[in-house]
Amino acid sequence: MTFLNEKFQELTPYTPGEQVNEEAFIKLNTNESPYPPAQGVQEAVAEASKKLNRYSDIAVEAVAKPLAEYLGIQQNQLFLGNGSDEVLSYIFQGFTEKGIAFPDVTYGFYQVYSGLYQVDATVVPLEDDFSLELSKYDDLDGTVIFANPNAPTGIYLTQEKICDFLERHPDRLVVVDEAYIDFSGESMVSVIDQYKNLFVVGTFSKSRQLAGARLGFGVGNADLIADMNRLRFSLNPYNINSMTQAAGSAVLQEQDYVDQKVQETIQVREWSKRELAKLGFEQTDSQGNFLFAKHPKLSGEELFTALREKKILARWFNQPRTKEHLRITVGTQEQMERLVEALKMILEEVEA
Ligand SMILES: *Cc1c(COP(=O)(O)O)cnc(C)c1O
Repeated sequence: MTFLNEKFQELTPYTPGEQVNEEAFIKLNTNESPYPPAQGVQEAVAEASKKLNRYSDIAVEAVAKPLAEYLGIQQNQLFLGNGSDEVLSYIFQGFTEKGIAFPDVTYGFYQVYSGLYQVDATVVPLEDDFSLELSKYDDLDGTVIFANPNAPTGIYLTQEKICDFLERHPDRLVVVDEAYIDFSGESMVSVIDQYKNLFVVGTFSKSRQLAGARLGFGVGNADLIADMNRLRFSLNPYNINSMTQAAGSAVLQEQDYVDQKVQETIQVREWSKRELAKLGFEQTDSQGNFLFAKHPKLSGEELFTALREKKILARWFNQPRTKEHLRITVGTQEQMERLVEALKMILEEVEA
């Protein structure tokens, strides 16, 4: 028995990574920051909680002003969402009349939103080494979306290649999901004034310690942002609650702390890559806050299960092209040392 509209009855929802008791597990499965938000952020949220009787600011001024300044853009080029997932959902809902194309190995929500909004989606395979070849999108119509660096591969595409594509296709909207850009190369935000067909999506979840607060953003030309707001004001104008606004505002005043933690994560990532390579893992050159690795002696599922038994949670995607891999979030140095120890034990058992 169901009252659900028929068109939604076959919908396949997103499968989030497990959220577990932190005491019992080393949690390396959802690419959160392993570090708590700075104390100033925690205090700002507590202060904001005193005014929860009032609706939140629909202009989200407390975040929009400093964020636009940080990004070097005008406020009318900035859209704020309840996590970047919400920003992405508006793209799929409202900017896909001529269809949308994205890679076969990428963020799972692109497929989910295509189903939810019944968008004509073209899935374009990545190369054998998981790199993204944009010329494969040349002969398609409509919107293009990809993550840069990509997830779960961590592979980064240069700004130059993306600009070439933008110039070849001025009539097609190109959405670059930069959830992990702070751990890698240059953001496309720096060229936003040059391309009316560019929309860049970012988040406070990965590099700014605010996954639980749900704060994401999009950067584009002012007309595109006005169109996004037309959708937002037709669904949920109060999409960013006042405690999240306070957290976002405060974290932008803690840029030194954020930068320091980003640098730490990059160092731990490179250390972890070297240690895994010594153990015989094959990996992409991930530029995110995660590793993407497989081992010739163990399947992805076996590795996932063996680590879970040792109370370490990684992410295993049971998909044709990625089922031998694990995506492992870069935790603290200590957590990654424990990961390496656990992997050594697991491999010794296999080799015995
Ligand atoms: C984590 C992630 C998101 C979603 O982030 P939120 O802002 O927490 O919704 C979007 N895109 C990619 C590629 C991600 O990895």
